[in-house]
Amino acid sequence: MSVEFEEIAKMRENPSEDYTTPVEFSDEEGYGKYLDLHECYEKYINLKGIEKVDYITYLSLFDHLFDIPRERKNSEYRNYIRALLTYLKDFVSRVKPLQDQAQEMAAAHQEFLKVWEPGMFPGWPKETGGALTNVGAHLDLSAFSSWEELASLGLDRLKSALMALGLKCGGTLEERAQRLFSTKGQTALDKSLVAKKGANKAKATTQQRHKDIAAIEAQVYRFANIVSSTRAATIENVTRRAARAAGERRDESDEESDTSVTGDVDSDDDEVPYNPKNLPLGWDGKPIPYWLYKLHGLNISYSCEICGNFTYKGPKAFQRHFAEWRHAHGMRCLGIPNTAHFANVTQIEDALALWEKIKNQKEGERFVAENDEEYEDSQGNVVNRKTYEDLKRQGLL
Ligand SMILES: [Zn+2]
Repeated sequence: MSVEFEEIAKMRENPSEDYTTPVEFSDEEGYGKYLDLHECYEKYINLKGIEKVDYITYLSLFDHLFDIPRERKNSEYRNYIRALLTYLKDFVSRVKPLQDQAQEMAAAHQEFLKVWEPGMFPGWPKETGGALTNVGAHLDLSAFSSWEELASLGLDRLKSALMALGLKCGGTLEERAQRLFSTKGQTALDKSLVAKKGANKAKATTQQRHKDIAAIEAQVYRFANIVSSTRAATIENVTRRAARAAGERRDESDEESDTSVTGDVDSDDDEVPYNPKNLPLGWDGKPIPYWLYKLHGLNISYSCEICGNFTYKGPKAFQRHFAEWRHAHGMRCLGIPNTAHFANVTQIEDALALWEKIKNQKEGERFVAENDEEYEDSQGNVVNRKTYEDLKRQGLL
């Protein structure tokens, strides 16, 4: 007892990796509040012959597996419900870690077997003319003295009697009657008459496969039941989100079509019908939303004297225009190179003043031979011409 206690205490002090890793949930799952069945949904709508439904509908019918006709339940379907079951089990293990899954599954399987055998499992009605058992009705041949008498019973009765013996049951009335009559008084059946076991075997595997699929379905029902409250919350959540998204779209279009407010109307602009705020057109040829118009500051105009008092709408267009043709042309007319120094200068006076200043600065930096020519004295020192001459005059060289 004390050893166990010490072990637990040790484990608590030095938790190993397994104990420190938090349970992970996807964004959609909201820490276990909701289901995230998008992956299963993808698989579902890609099943052949399945009605294409939206995600919300899918959430409410993913466990209506009995509505899917049994002919559609192929291996692809099996993969789908396996994936679905895997997700549900995984989800339950994350939100209800104390739940005994093995026990849950065993109980589900027991229940399934109980209803499967009598053919009561939803979606899987018992096939008529079962493959494994010889369902035909036995016929007492001692009452018949010839095959012609048997033939008088008719095709169906003969077929049933043949099946009861596990014999081939096809052929004409005569063939069937003769085949059945030939067994009279025999203890061992003629091999050539016995129905092929291969066909039965194939049927048996098919049945086994159906049973496997149905068993998985039973587990899905069980786990769907366990998560039923989470599922209801999920449907609510997804619906709410969809409604919100739709609402936002509607608000946006309302704003676009709202014509009661008048903004600053620039008479210079081209006339656009149904656009009282004179909003610029977007890529789709419609006026851009008003909030976008405000966001980009398109209601603010900037004019530029260098461009001949042309006005630009929005700071972006204004900033860009300094490198564009109209401004470049204006600068060329002033005889000023359109360099980065002149960015943001819009007044002709300012531009000319700046140009003068820059020119003077450049002048100072220019190479003047009288001053800057280099001279070297007898000791190898390099000095400029002015210094050299000063030194020479003082007789220091
Ligand atoms: Zn300009």
